[in-house]
Amino acid sequence: MLNHRLLTGEQKTRYHEFYEFVKEHVAPFDHTWDKEQGVPLQVMKQCGAAGFVGGIIPKEYGGGGWDAVTFGLLNEAFGAASSSLCALFTVQTMVAMTLAKWGTDEQKNQWLHPMAKGDIIASFAMTEPKVGSDIQAVETTFTWKGAGDIFLLNGTKKWITLSAIADIFLVFGKDPEGKSMAGIIRSTAPGVTIKPLKDMLGFRGAHLSQIEFENCEIHAGDLVGKPGLVLPYVAPLGLHFGRISTAWSSTGLLRACLETSATYASERRQFQAQIMDHGAIRQMITNMGADLEAARLLCLNACMAEDVHSPDAIEKVLLAKYFASRAAAGAATDTVQIMGAAGCHEENAAAHFYRNAKVMQIIEGTDQVLQKVLGKSFCQKFSKRG
Ligand SMILES: Cc1cc2nc3c(=O)[nH]c(=O)nc-3n(C[C@H](O)[C@H](O)[C@H](O)COP(=O)(O)OP(=O)(O)OC[C@H]3O[C@@H](n4cnc5c(N)ncnc54)[C@H](O)[C@@H]3O)c2cc1C
Repeated sequence: MLNHRLLTGEQKTRYHEFYEFVKEHVAPFDHTWDKEQGVPLQVMKQCGAAGFVGGIIPKEYGGGGWDAVTFGLLNEAFGAASSSLCALFTVQTMVAMTLAKWGTDEQKNQWLHPMAKGDIIASFAMTEPKVGSDIQAVETTFTWKGAGDIFLLNGTKKWITLSAIADIFLVFGKDPEGKSMAGIIRSTAPGVTIKPLKDMLGFRGAHLSQIEFENCEIHAGDLVGKPGLVLPYVAPLGLHFGRISTAWSSTGLLRACLETSATYASERRQFQAQIMDHGAIRQMITNMGADLEAARLLCLNACMAEDVHSPDAIEKVLLAKYFASRAAAGAATDTVQIMGAAGCHEENAAAHFYRNAKVMQIIEGTDQVLQKVLGKSFCQKFSKRG
């Protein structure tokens, strides 16, 4: 990635910085975080101090003001070593960029500076026990208390990354008339109950939880976006940045699969030959290499479109996420295959890749939901019917 000719000198320097940080502070420890089911808070703070957590937050709010490509490179470098830690960049950015675009000046000043430093960790709370892909159906309610500027928040959010340790949640719901709403609430607010979710297939270190809100008071000043415009405009912006992160982090995972497979295939011998000399093994490695190059180009293309505010950036990001997550899942399956029994044991990275890669096809839009959108768009664009 470092020598990619499409990167600027500054982007290459940054990537080198991310890569070196990951080599020293992340790669040797992810196995333990996965086993103990939690990336330590101190590691997240370290990422904050290094400027990684708020890299893409605008400079005026204390962030690094990075372009989308640089943010993507961060996710590639970390995604190769720890999907769980990389999830910090995903969700923090989803909330921060939503506030940067749709928040009031007071909200931006209050939250973005500490979020940029990693002093405050935020979760993006959309999914509910009965509501997944169909976000228009959210059942959480924001009800005006009847006096003053207070609303009562009621509902349950599930599978929310980092929410077991987050300081604030950006919660999505509706008012009693069905107008979509969102608001920021502290995790310590009265009426908030956090139930950590352990034993996930992948992302085991990402501190998921179920959050229950029971008559939690939320001040009108903490509402984000105008009622009714939240699900059509506010939430999609956060999800867009979540997809940029996931596309690149999947690409990093794919690179890790290729590195692991190529190393193992050059060392392991069967039938008096290195297994890399068996055609079937080479075929799997070739496909990984081809997919890696394609995923990198799709991710770069999407972020370059984002950086020039091109209207087609949304679709390019969807496509990059769709391709990279599927390619990572395929590569992880093949890495286990190439390693045989060794790939089936938790002590080897292949087993982690396999578990984490599957999750990539579910978060930030499942494969099927992305096919619904992209398939329709491609039919419209490529149909020769008048
Ligand atoms: C590790 C992890 C972290 C997560 N973090 C967060 C988070 O931070 N915040 C948050 O809000 N959520 C989070 N989620 C939840 C995630 O966003 C949802 O899992 C995702 O939106 C899919 O919803 P669902 O799991 O309820 O599946 P469903 O929406 O119930 O889908 C079930 C199946 O039906 C398919 N399907 C659904 N609709 C269609 C359709 N129209 N056409 C064809 N097939 C369809 C899906 O593709 C899937 O295969 C996380 C999930 C995981 C696993």
